[in-house]
Amino acid sequence: MNIHEYQAKAILKEFGAPVSRGVAVLKVEQAEAAAKELGGPLWVVKSQIHAGGRGKGKFKEASAGDKGGVRLAKSIDEVKENVKQMLGATLVTVQTGPAGKQVNRLYIEEGADIEKEFYLSALVDRATSRVSFVVSTEGGMDIEDVAHHTPEKIKTFSVDPATGVMPHHGRTVAQALNLTGDLAKQAGKLVDILYKAFVAKDMSMLEINPLIVTKQGDLRVLDAKVSFDSNALYRHPDVFALRDETEEDAKEIEASKHDLSYVALDGDIGCMVNGAGLAMATMDIIKLYGMEPANFLDVGGGATTEKVTAAFKIITADPNVKGILVNIFGGIMRCDVIAEGVIAAVKEVGLKVPLVVRLEGTNVDLGKKIISESGLNVISADDLDDAAQKIVKAVKEV
Ligand code: GDP
Ligand code: MG
Repeated sequence: MNIHEYQAKAILKEFGAPVSRGVAVLKVEQAEAAAKELGGPLWVVKSQIHAGGRGKGKFKEASAGDKGGVRLAKSIDEVKENVKQMLGATLVTVQTGPAGKQVNRLYIEEGADIEKEFYLSALVDRATSRVSFVVSTEGGMDIEDVAHHTPEKIKTFSVDPATGVMPHHGRTVAQALNLTGDLAKQAGKLVDILYKAFVAKDMSMLEINPLIVTKQGDLRVLDAKVSFDSNALYRHPDVFALRDETEEDAKEIEASKHDLSYVALDGDIGCMVNGAGLAMATMDIIKLYGMEPANFLDVGGGATTEKVTAAFKIITADPNVKGILVNIFGGIMRCDVIAEGVIAAVKEVGLKVPLVVRLEGTNVDLGKKIISESGLNVISADDLDDAAQKIVKAVKEV
């Protein structure tokens, strides 16, 4: 689960990290009071969306101006003007995709005087089974570009969970960023704070880009992007309360209510599959035959008729779906349950696109019988290869 920058900064602040003072605003009328409270002389008005690259982003609406999604303001009037332009407008960044994201919240911060910009992040590293830090002097830019063009400017290290952050980690960061004296001490303290916040809140990723040195000689967290491990949210109701459903795909929200593993994609073929591996294989074979999957959907091992119906409804509600491929291997799952679920769903929501069903495994004969006797226009397939070819052909013929 992702949260907004201002929420992430509030969490980091609780743990003692240095962040700028700021006020979140949801309405234009709140801008003046927020700006007055912060005092100036410099303010930053920041779009709050679950995507990075906001500074270099562009609003779709001409009325929002062309100054990007992160703006400096030198007066309260300028703050108000920018809030008016940006709230409600749609921001397109390298991370939002071409459709962009509507900006429903802004964060107004006291502006910092930047001396230097660095990069610092922490993530769960599968290779070492530890929390790893990534640090670089090249802040404010795309870290993927830095990794590609100047990998020597990136330093990584992992933290032993038995000891936590040790003084040598702080020295590693200070050295990587060429910091000495008091700034080196601040770097050590910050790494310790970030690690504690990361572990205590079950984060999966924490990215500070940029971490800055101010002209006054202090380290400060200027941007913060945080993701949490969804499987640990049950023990963090405070974090879960920060969820902003307007930032998420409506179909994915609906799927999560039914405990379905669903990821919306850009293609034309809706897939309903059991088992993540089979779902990946199904997506691959659709691509092999020249089309793209509209989603990843794993209904799980022991799905009920209700769950299958819910899954089918989510797929058919997607206007991009031009054909549906149901590919089920009945192990624990019984093919007749799937067949009944599909038929119940089709009867309820109708079927406007071709549907290919491939069943194999437990009670397969009964499942096939239920489908063929249903009188519905379902194309039956014998194996995965056959199923993929049939759905691609059927969609192309429509
Ligand atoms: P992102 O574009 O989504 O990564 O948003 P950031 O929060 O990283 O802001 C983008 C850029 O705006 C930063 O790299 C800074 O150069 C600039 N910026 C953000 N906050 C301040 C500030 O307080 N003072 C100044 N001078 N620049 C800022
Ligand atoms: Mg940034």
